[in-house]
Amino acid sequence: MPELPEVETVARALRAEVLGRSISEVCVLDPKLAHLAGSALPGKRLLRVERRGKYINCHLSDRRVLQLHLMMSGRLLLRRTSDPADRFARVLIGLDDDRQLRFCDARRFGRAAVLSPARYREFDAGLGPEPLGRSFSSRLLGERLMGRRVALKSALLDQRILAGVGNIYADEALFRARISPLRPAGSLDSPALRRLHRALRHVLRASLALGGTTFGIYANAHGDEGAFQAMLRVFRRTGEPCPRCRTAIKRLLVGGRATHYCPRCQGG
Ligand SMILES: [Zn+2]
Repeated sequence: MPELPEVETVARALRAEVLGRSISEVCVLDPKLAHLAGSALPGKRLLRVERRGKYINCHLSDRRVLQLHLMMSGRLLLRRTSDPADRFARVLIGLDDDRQLRFCDARRFGRAAVLSPARYREFDAGLGPEPLGRSFSSRLLGERLMGRRVALKSALLDQRILAGVGNIYADEALFRARISPLRPAGSLDSPALRRLHRALRHVLRASLALGGTTFGIYANAHGDEGAFQAMLRVFRRTGEPCPRCRTAIKRLLVGGRATHYCPRCQGG
């Protein structure tokens, strides 16, 4: 699933291209998104495009927010209206410069909704802090994890605790910080919190710099793939030697999610 760096990459590309444009028409191809056709989107301008957690939020001139979530396999592509059709397109959002935002998704799990200002505030308040945000400190991380007995890996995936981190970057950050994914989330002391805070920001920034991680499906708004998969140290490297100590990387399920770690470096 696209995580913070992948969704941010898509949002940045869109921001650079569609800001100030108006929606000219909405063509729904997937009945699951039929609600978009009746949402009175044509004529509204795109004032801001932002990422929050794993969501892309297009702030409209009538103060509502067109919100998209790519889920497992969604793609948001910016094309000329005359470009050949994209496979698995679910909705085409026409812009006033003869281009189209095409929301494509083979598995049709991706979500799209138009939120009122009140509903958007509710959404925003329900998500944890942004790990790349200015106010995100190791202290704030400690506050978010305080008192939680759930495994640290599961806590990092909980979007109410921290927004935008998913399976890939949780595993990579925990490896970098040399902390076991199984440790109770509320058990980290200050040095461990500082290591985890630094590691989270490092892996997210490094991935963002390379356009994110691509395993088959994710692509940015122009259809280009990310390159961070070559930099992964433990994620999907089960059985390969740990780049630090050469112990074989292990895989186990934590809260039902595949988790990759070095049993030696991440013993504590
Ligand atoms: Zn190791």
